[in-house]
Amino acid sequence: IHPPSRGTSILTLAIDDLVKTFGEVKAVDHVSFEVEEGAFVCFLGPSGCGKTTLLRIIAGLEQADTGAVRLGGVDMSGVPARKRNFGVVFQSYSLFPNMSAQRNVGYGLECRGWSKSERQKRACEMLDLVGLADQARKLPSEMSGGQQQRVALARALAPNPSLLLLDEPLSALDAKVRDTLRQEIRSLQQRLGITTVMVTHDQDEALAMADTIVVLNGGKIEQIGHPRDLYTRPASAFVAGFIGHMNVLPVTRNGSGFHFSNTILDVDEADPGQGDIRSLGIRPEAIEVASSHGANAPRNVVPGEVRAVTFLGNLTRIEVAPDAQKDTVLTLELHGACDIPKLGDGLSLRLPSHALKVLP
Ligand code: ATP
Repeated sequence: IHPPSRGTSILTLAIDDLVKTFGEVKAVDHVSFEVEEGAFVCFLGPSGCGKTTLLRIIAGLEQADTGAVRLGGVDMSGVPARKRNFGVVFQSYSLFPNMSAQRNVGYGLECRGWSKSERQKRACEMLDLVGLADQARKLPSEMSGGQQQRVALARALAPNPSLLLLDEPLSALDAKVRDTLRQEIRSLQQRLGITTVMVTHDQDEALAMADTIVVLNGGKIEQIGHPRDLYTRPASAFVAGFIGHMNVLPVTRNGSGFHFSNTILDVDEADPGQGDIRSLGIRPEAIEVASSHGANAPRNVVPGEVRAVTFLGNLTRIEVAPDAQKDTVLTLELHGACDIPKLGDGLSLRLPSHALKVLP
């Protein structure tokens, strides 16, 4: 199977100022962005942030109030879902229960006027592609959840769609199958070079699979970017907290640094400006244990007390309540066979200036 040939046209997906309301609820609130051909984009956000509605508008299953969806410059507004040539995979597989895997995969081709022999050949190719060549005659009820979702994927890809839309395709599967299928979908998508948009509420899934993540909150784009950029440079406390764990420290300005728990924190970040900065963020893996523990802590060192110790195999997660600000518990992660402190121990934490981020 080769990447579908689409001549020289660049099929950029452009979402232009989409708005969708349900009564009082603004499910999608002036959303605009572009997806390059061949990219894998994830819509990520908490329940109710509008990610499914946005995907359904792109699929043509929902009508936007205003705004446009364009593919390769062509406005899709008047094009019904079945004529968009988009492959869609749902969380619930949505296979026909009385049809074999092969007939399920070939079904969309029948509607497009492919002959029986062409359909059978294509269905076999597609089942082979998703590792189910030997399951062609099975009914969905005779297959595992992971296998059924592979069939659904093969069915979506069979007509050579110009866009693949995935609505939480892995969330009904158990953790191990989910991890395997996550890698399989990503490598298949890269091999075929098909532009893909996936909805997920699982940040690990988005980080592992996407070229670009669109973080949504209350129907609006909170931040859009490469997974690594969202993790290292979150644009808001919301993104920082949603993508990985971020310790959020309430601070007040103190000269060139920030005051937190009777300590002054210096921050390297290029001129954080004189604006109204109230919180700094630091990832658990960036916090270090300071060599000495005492009341007169130097800058960027916070004395505290160990409140929780959780052994997680390859790392140990420790929660520390700062002595002078006990309500802001800091989480850090220690790797390998280092000395693990005990509950109630005094522990001073070094918050390196390069790792502290100003959270707007
Ligand atoms: P989830 O992860 O829970 O599926 P989501 O981020 O996909 O959430 P949407 O399903 O897009 O969110 O819903 C966004 C908002 O629009 C929610 O407040 C939801 O209740 C509302 N909504 C969605 N569809 C409808 C509908 N058909 N009628 C009324 N309200 C709706």
